[in-house]
Amino acid sequence: MALPRGVGETRQCPHCKATILASAVVCPGCNGHLRFGPATGAVAGVLKPATVTAFKIEGSFDNPAPSSPREYTVVVAIRNQRGEIVDRKVIGVGVLGPGDERAVTLTVEMAANPARDVPPPRRQ
Ligand SMILES: [Zn+2]
Repeated sequence: MALPRGVGETRQCPHCKATILASAVVCPGCNGHLRFGPATGAVAGVLKPATVTAFKIEGSFDNPAPSSPREYTVVVAIRNQRGEIVDRKVIGVGVLGPGDERAVTLTVEMAANPARDVPPPRRQ
C-alpha cells in the first residue's frame, strides 16, 4: 500500500542525534524543540500533531547485594504482524553495583487517527 507523501519520513534530531519522525515538532528522546521544515507544515507553537500513547510498559531489574558488579544491555526489537524483526536497537548499557537498581519505561506514541479519535460533531 502506498503511503501518503511525507508519512513515515525521518530526520535526525539536531540535539541528541536520534532518528525521529520528520513530522515531530518536539523530539521524543530529548524533548528538544525542533525547527520546522516543509515536511511538517507546522508553525512554531501553533500546530502540533496530536499523538496518542498506543503502548507503555515499565519494569525494573536489580543486582541484589551481596554480589559483584554486573553488566547489562537494554535491547528493543520491533516486529511486524508476521513476527519479522523490522528494527532492533541497543538502547543502553551499563553496570549495576551491589544493591543497584534500574527502571525501564517503553512508550510507543502514534499520530492520532482523526477519523477514530475525534468524536463526530453533535447533532443539534
Ligand atoms: Zn533529540
